[in-house]
Amino acid sequence: MAATMPLRSFVSHVVLDLDGTLLNTDGIVSEVLKKFLGKYGKQWDGRGVHKIVGKTPLEAATSIVEDYGLPCTTNEFILDISPMFSDQWCNIKALPGASRLIKHLNGHGVRMALASNSPKESIEAKISHHHGWKESFSVIIGGDEVGMGKPSPEIFLEAAKRLNVEPSKCLVIEDSLPGVTAGKAAGMGVVAVPSVPKQAALYSSADEVINSLLDLQPEKWGLPPFQDWIEGTLPIEPWYIGGPVIKGFGRGSKVLGIPTANLSADSFSVILSEHASGVYFGWAALSTRGIFKMVMSIGWNPYFDNTEKTIEPWLLHDFNEDFYGEELHLAIVGYIRPEANFPSLETLIAKIHDDGKISEKALDLPMYASYKDAPYLRSLLQQDNNHS
Ligand code: ADP
Ligand code: MG
Repeated sequence: MAATMPLRSFVSHVVLDLDGTLLNTDGIVSEVLKKFLGKYGKQWDGRGVHKIVGKTPLEAATSIVEDYGLPCTTNEFILDISPMFSDQWCNIKALPGASRLIKHLNGHGVRMALASNSPKESIEAKISHHHGWKESFSVIIGGDEVGMGKPSPEIFLEAAKRLNVEPSKCLVIEDSLPGVTAGKAAGMGVVAVPSVPKQAALYSSADEVINSLLDLQPEKWGLPPFQDWIEGTLPIEPWYIGGPVIKGFGRGSKVLGIPTANLSADSFSVILSEHASGVYFGWAALSTRGIFKMVMSIGWNPYFDNTEKTIEPWLLHDFNEDFYGEELHLAIVGYIRPEANFPSLETLIAKIHDDGKISEKALDLPMYASYKDAPYLRSLLQQDNNHS
C-alpha cells in the first residue's frame, strides 16, 4: 500500500472551510428554504442543493430566485431570508469529527485559519455556539474581506498571508467543489470531504477524498497523527436509536450469513443525517432476549447502490428465528471505517466479518463495555422490568 501512495508534500498549517466541512449547515438551509419558498407557494425539493453548496451568498440567492421564478429581486430575497438564517445559527450542529479535529490540531500547536465565503460576521456568529472553536483559529477570514470568493484562490492566499506561511505549506479541508478548485488554484494541498453523498467522483482535482472528518489521517500530510484510535476502533460520543425491527431489502443477507435487523430509516432521517455513513458498533437490546454485541453500517451500501440512507445492525449472536416487529434499542459507541465499494460480494462479506470480529473484541474493553448497562438498553428488557 504505502509504496503506491502518491507522495504528498508535507504541510505545517491547515485552512478549514466552515459550512459543510465543520458545520452541518445543509439541514438548516433546507429547513429555511422550505419555509421561505412555501410563502410563495413553491416547494423546495433539495435538488438544487449542488447549486448553492460552496457558493457565495449572492450566487446562491441568484440561482434560487431564477430556478424558482420568484417574484422578487435577488437583493430583496437576501434581505428577507437573512434573518431566517441567523435565527437558526444556534441550531447548526458540528459535523462528525469537527470538534475532535480542531482540538487535536490546536492541542499540537498546528496553526489554523478558517476561510469561508460567508461574511465574517456570520462566521463569528455561527462558531460562537461551538465551545473552543474561535480561540483555536489564528486567522478567520470571510468572503466579504476579499475581492472574489471561492472558486477564486484569493481567500486562501489571503489566509496564508495572514498565517505568514507559504501557500504550499497549507492544507485546505473543503466540502465543496468551488472550495477544492480554489485550494488547488492557491497551490495548496486539498482534502475534500464531500457533503453531497455519492459525488466523490466529481472531486478528482482534490489530492484526497475522504468520507468524513473521522477518516482524516493528518500524518499523511506530515501533521501529528490522531492518538485516539484503539484496536482498530475510534470511540465516539455515544448515540442511541431504537424502534421495531422491520423487513429489509430481502437481498438475502441472512443467506449470506449476515442477518441485519433493519430499522425504519424514515423515523430517523434527522439523526442519520447527523452521522457520517460508515461502519459502527455498540450494544443492542431486544426486549425478550437480552443485550448483545452489535456491528452495523449506516449509509447507502455502495455495493447495492441504495437510494436511501439506511441503518443495518447485525447482532453478534446466533438466533434461531426472526424477530420482526420486536423492539430493538441500540447504543452506538464506536466507529470502525467508512463505507467502501467492493469489487465482489465475497470481499464485501469478508470485510463485514472482519468488522464483526473487531467489534466483538473491542466491546470487551472497559470503555465500551460499560455502555452495556446504559438505561436506554436496560429499560427495554422484560425480566428487569418484571423484577422491579
Ligand atoms: P431483511 O430482508 O429483513 O433485512 P435479512 O436477511 O437481513 O432480512 O435478515 C434479518 C432478519 O433476521 C432480522 O430482521 C431478524 O429478525 C433476523 N435475525 C436473525 N439473527 C439475527 C442477527 N444475529 N442479527 C440481526 N438480525 C437477525
Ligand atoms: Mg436486513
